[in-house]
Amino acid sequence: MAITGLARRDEIWQSTLGWQPGDAQWAQFQALYQGILAGNEQINLTRLTEPDDFWEKHLWDSLSGLWPWLGKGDGSDQRPDWAQSVTIAQVIDIGTGAGFPGLPAAIAYPDWTITLLDATQKKIRFLEELALEMGLTQVRAIADRAESLGHRPHHRGKYDLALLRAVGPVSPCVEYGLPLVRVGGMAVLYRGQWTPEEEATVERVAAQLGGELTAVQSWQTPLTEGMRHCVYLRKVRPSPGKFPRQPGLPAKKPL
Ligand code: SAH
Repeated sequence: MAITGLARRDEIWQSTLGWQPGDAQWAQFQALYQGILAGNEQINLTRLTEPDDFWEKHLWDSLSGLWPWLGKGDGSDQRPDWAQSVTIAQVIDIGTGAGFPGLPAAIAYPDWTITLLDATQKKIRFLEELALEMGLTQVRAIADRAESLGHRPHHRGKYDLALLRAVGPVSPCVEYGLPLVRVGGMAVLYRGQWTPEEEATVERVAAQLGGELTAVQSWQTPLTEGMRHCVYLRKVRPSPGKFPRQPGLPAKKPL
């Protein structure tokens, strides 16, 4: 397969997210692209291998959910108050798959410690190697189910931010995510379409897990005008000890 480079598109980063990668970050995005393409020949990681698809649906999309924290840091931006009040050091990407949104997040935020979690051992082994090759020393990868990790004392209630993209319907996502988040932290659900029914479900399930719906941000993807929604939940109380329920139940019998 011919390897074509990614177009950088600084103007689009700026006009949409008010941010753009620096030169070193851009080089890392390209290395990530090459690393994923190489890995895709060994294991099934992603079908988005064309450069424009990768740029839009993996890189841009991963960072769109972090827009509230992508400020320039000089006070000139319009970061929402609810985002400014969350100090972020520990982030978990639940159901990371090929490393999205966690790896672009690690490149954009070198100060964050990022845990990539996936139930599939071979994806985790690949991600560990890729992070090592790329020198992303603040990334660690864990092979486990969110339902199990959510009960481990070193992980439960320990993350400032939990990210969930394409990990199934909203109810299990909330049950996987909120137990791992500390009180005051947030879970970010990356969604495509967003319906009033899903919003009602999220509000109801979040309340059971100790969270509340803070904001829903809608986006159009910049190249193909796809519909996206990023849903922000704040953890306001510890999650009851019975959550998450045993592996498989959150998806099989959604709250
Ligand atoms: N977040 C990635 C991958 C989505 S595919 C992206 O947006 O591209 C969903 C991934 O979630 C799969 O790799 C699957 O193994 C993982 N997954 C699904 N349920 C899980 C669970 N309960 N715990 C951990 N990982 C899970």
